[in-house]
Amino acid sequence: MLPLHTRATVTGGLARPLLKVLDLSEALRGRYPFDRVAVHRPPDGPDLDGTALRELGFAAVLCRGAEDRVDGLPAVHSLGNPDVVRPGDVIRVRPDAGQVSVLFRRGANANSLFVTERCNSRCLMCSQPPRDEDDSWRVGELFELVSLLDADLDQLGVTGGEPTLLGPGLPELIRRCRTALPITTLHILTNGRAFATPRVADAVRDGVGRVVWAVPLYADVPFRHDFVVQVDGAFNETVNGIHNLAERGHAIEVRFVVHAQTLPRMERFAEFVYRNMPFVSHVAFMGLEPMGFAKVNRDRLWVDPLDYGPALARAASSLQGRGIATSIYNVPLCVLPRQAWPLARQSISDWKNVYDPACGECAVRARCCGFFASYGAAWRSRGIQAIRIEEAAQ
Ligand code: SF4
Repeated sequence: MLPLHTRATVTGGLARPLLKVLDLSEALRGRYPFDRVAVHRPPDGPDLDGTALRELGFAAVLCRGAEDRVDGLPAVHSLGNPDVVRPGDVIRVRPDAGQVSVLFRRGANANSLFVTERCNSRCLMCSQPPRDEDDSWRVGELFELVSLLDADLDQLGVTGGEPTLLGPGLPELIRRCRTALPITTLHILTNGRAFATPRVADAVRDGVGRVVWAVPLYADVPFRHDFVVQVDGAFNETVNGIHNLAERGHAIEVRFVVHAQTLPRMERFAEFVYRNMPFVSHVAFMGLEPMGFAKVNRDRLWVDPLDYGPALARAASSLQGRGIATSIYNVPLCVLPRQAWPLARQSISDWKNVYDPACGECAVRARCCGFFASYGAAWRSRGIQAIRIEEAAQ
């Protein structure tokens, strides 16, 4: 697990906080404007010609220590954890706070654009509790960030908060991604409620064929879903939003988070999706991430996955078996019935993915999702145990 933030020292005045970090050879190819690039100087690398770099207009040098700086160029150096930033990454530098944050990590199993902390729902298990402060400044930063991403990305997440609260900023973000990232699919996590208004669904037309809308739905009936998201009327808005998007040709993933408040309707939810939304491209059943509101509400949410495993296997297999692609996220293999293993994915972003001490001897660790870094004794299933080689082969 590699963190996304580290301490750093900045010398010289940076013109912009966002920088693409590149080795000199890649920087000189000119794919990214020089004034947005921090040239990476590895500890054992050749000397850099500071005068030439300055004349070319590079923004900065990223180097190991103060002694590796280049005359006349701003430098980001003395990182608390030098492994946090690598060539290809996009970083935000806060000289006053002495902090570097990685906004894009080349080669990571998942990268996302975090678009807002605001949300119009209050889900009981939200891992990223919303805040009502105006953070519309993020939109401008995101537009800049998109232009610094690797153009060969297969997939890019968009998350929050609720992305539709960006208003016209969301269609514009989609358009900019289409231009800067011509082969990338956007995977946008939204509660879908705003798309109940046809005008809002119309506005994201540029996402057709380029966006998968990942929409959580927590039940087959309004009262249960509305209770989980803590908003009356949310179920009807989300279901109407899903249909409005589908009518306009969009790809949709439906997400179901498994916990004590959703479990009683999980199998009926699967039937509901099959009967009412057979057009969805994917259904994801997800284990809890023990963060944010989920931690606060642990006693109302916790069910040992070992206990819901058989029902989860039935619900997921019923959809998969009837032609709707289905996955299970965030549930370790050792607590799942064997029939569900083919549907289980390594779903946890690598920067927050850990394994239990028991996993050290496990024969299926390489294909198991493991755990969120925030899990602890209160969230540990009594079913966690290493799978032996002979068991894995059965
Ligand atoms: S022991 Fe660890 S690696 Fe093995 S299945 Fe369980 S959680 Fe996964």
